[in-house]
Amino acid sequence: MNFRAKYDEPFAETHHINPLSDGGLDISKNIIVTCPNHHRIIHKTDAQFDYERLLYKYPNGLEERLILADHLEHKSFWV
Ligand SMILES: [Zn+2]
Repeated sequence: MNFRAKYDEPFAETHHINPLSDGGLDISKNIIVTCPNHHRIIHKTDAQFDYERLLYKYPNGLEERLILADHLEHKSFWV
């Protein structure tokens, strides 16, 4: 979703892969950038993140790979 192209307003949300409330760290290695819709559905379905394949797995079997994942490549930073 490109808000800038449509609304002339750059817009995105961030999501903590490991929730802060579960002890996840507020560091870039634990954060992904999403559009608001994906952010809500990740929470609503409690989709699970696959670190190996850098994708979210939804309860209905759908898998969605991250587009912006370069910052997650080096697993040595994982919490
Ligand atoms: Zn979130």
